[in-house]
Amino acid sequence: MKYLGAHVSAAGGPDQAVLRAVEIGADAFALFTKNQRQWRAKPLDDATVEAFRRACQEHGFGPGQILPHDSYLINLGHPDAEGLAKSRDAFLDEMQRCEQLGLTLLNFHPGSHLKKISESECLTRIAESINHALDKTRGVTAVIENTAGQGTNLGWRFEHLAEIIEQVDDKARVGVCIDTCHAFAAGYDLRTAEACTATLDEFGSVVGFEYLRGMHLNDAKSQLASRVDRHHSLGQGNIGLEAFTTLMRDPRIDGIPMVLETIEPEIWAEEIAWLRAQATD
Ligand SMILES: [Zn+2]
Ligand SMILES: [Zn+2]
Repeated sequence: MKYLGAHVSAAGGPDQAVLRAVEIGADAFALFTKNQRQWRAKPLDDATVEAFRRACQEHGFGPGQILPHDSYLINLGHPDAEGLAKSRDAFLDEMQRCEQLGLTLLNFHPGSHLKKISESECLTRIAESINHALDKTRGVTAVIENTAGQGTNLGWRFEHLAEIIEQVDDKARVGVCIDTCHAFAAGYDLRTAEACTATLDEFGSVVGFEYLRGMHLNDAKSQLASRVDRHHSLGQGNIGLEAFTTLMRDPRIDGIPMVLETIEPEIWAEEIAWLRAQATD
């Protein structure tokens, strides 16, 4: 069973994101629970939480089908004490918002060393940041997204993800989300069924499918190993449709939210329908 959807807007409240997901024929979705470009947001009030929970129930979305994404400002591997503290506070707030909404996954980008600390120091900081947030929350899994490796962002190699997970105390509440555009830009080929399966095999041996808790399905405007993060609509970029057909038929990635972050929301319904047709073939 593949759960398919898109990262929909939560304008007007998180319950509106549920309705937008329904409109495009999705049975999974991603959303921001606050403005992703701001540090602070007003706390969720009871009415907002209740409206969201009711909409999810009414439309049959369980927490395992919803993959909230945290703010882009957060850097859990920040080299400076002040930046790290600010990021950890904001991340804890994001985890607590998920708890309030009854959500069990929180997707985030691991962090950047900003050329001030080593890669391994940065990965350790990220793991400590995750431990800090998991200590103070219950029932929410920290889902690390692989990155394109743009700038000083870590998490573009599967080994980075494994190194973080190794240092997380509660392995039951840490997971991974693979973004296909990011993987491709980081140097993992996906262009043919063989290449795509080989990349998944590598993920399986380096990280392990037991940690795979979500996927972002994006084609790439950027080139293989370019370390440039530019999404494209499915079949219109440098990855091509064969990868997505292959993913839809791989039983190792059943039962997790698979979310489009492609660049034309107008065709999300079409993209989802196409993906579903690949799965049932
Ligand atoms: Zn992301
Ligand atoms: Zn993504």
